[in-house]
Amino acid sequence: MTRYCVFGHPIGHSKSPAIHAAFAAQTGENIEYVAIEAPLDDFAGAWQTFVASGGQGANVTVPFKEEAYRLCTQLTEQARRAGAVNTLRLLPDGNLEGDTTDGVGLVADLKRQGARLQGANILVLGAGGAVRGVLAPLLAHDPAGLTVANRTAAKASALAQDFADLGTIRGGGFDSVAGPFDLVINGTSASLSGELPPLPDDLFAEGALAYDMMYGAEPTVFMAWAAERGARSVDGLGMLVEQAAASFARWRGVVPETAPVLSTLRQAL
Ligand code: NDP
Repeated sequence: MTRYCVFGHPIGHSKSPAIHAAFAAQTGENIEYVAIEAPLDDFAGAWQTFVASGGQGANVTVPFKEEAYRLCTQLTEQARRAGAVNTLRLLPDGNLEGDTTDGVGLVADLKRQGARLQGANILVLGAGGAVRGVLAPLLAHDPAGLTVANRTAAKASALAQDFADLGTIRGGGFDSVAGPFDLVINGTSASLSGELPPLPDDLFAEGALAYDMMYGAEPTVFMAWAAERGARSVDGLGMLVEQAAASFARWRGVVPETAPVLSTLRQAL
């Protein structure tokens, strides 16, 4: 049996062990997947201990994604761009490979939702780790334009500069946002505290999709606000399952089916 885990702090409520157990049962892969709370001051030590116990790979969540990135001796192009990893894989030659699957997970879920990316006018709210990880996969779909807006405007401007070679992207504060947009993705953590970024009322184009990376049993404040303004609004549970599937495929070479796992998780929320 091959061992995998998710590292975070805190990690108690992680859905990743249940998701990977479901993928393993579905594909017949013989794996064990557990949640490990790494100490805040010794992520590298936690990884070494896990490897010594037979660990072959891991997911990494808040607050260790950047530290995990620095530990890697090999990086995928997506991870190098993102400056953070959510997937570690021990290679046969002893190298540690880092990848980030958040972006492909988001794009897979957007497609499942029927979102059009090519030629679309896209707004991404936030400029933290999650947003940095999704910009390259979004730009790869050739949108008409991508705007990044953040509470700290300078962070959004810097992100836009970092990704300018990949497409039409601009960044600034919430006050600089000018719609309408076909797709608005909330990648801030404002929903965690029930807050809403200050946004104009005329944000959404006709038929727009509002996507909150956060998820829960109830619609987030952002989702409710968007629905009141005519947008179709969805949460990020599908992104969570899709990024897990991409990690699983990287480790095992088998692509699991996500729909039944997503449906089970949704019912259990
Ligand atoms: P970070 O801490 O790296 O970034 C947080 C971002 O939110 C920053 O841009 C910050 O702005 C902004 N922000 C925080 N509070 C507020 C507020 N009250 N009003 C406006 N903006 C605010 O977090 P992550 O990027 O790692 O995560 C962001 C969100 O994405 C979280 O809700 C997380 O749960 C979710 N997520 C979901 C995933 C999924 O699979 N569904 C995967 C990864 C993340 P500033 O720069 O000004 O501080």
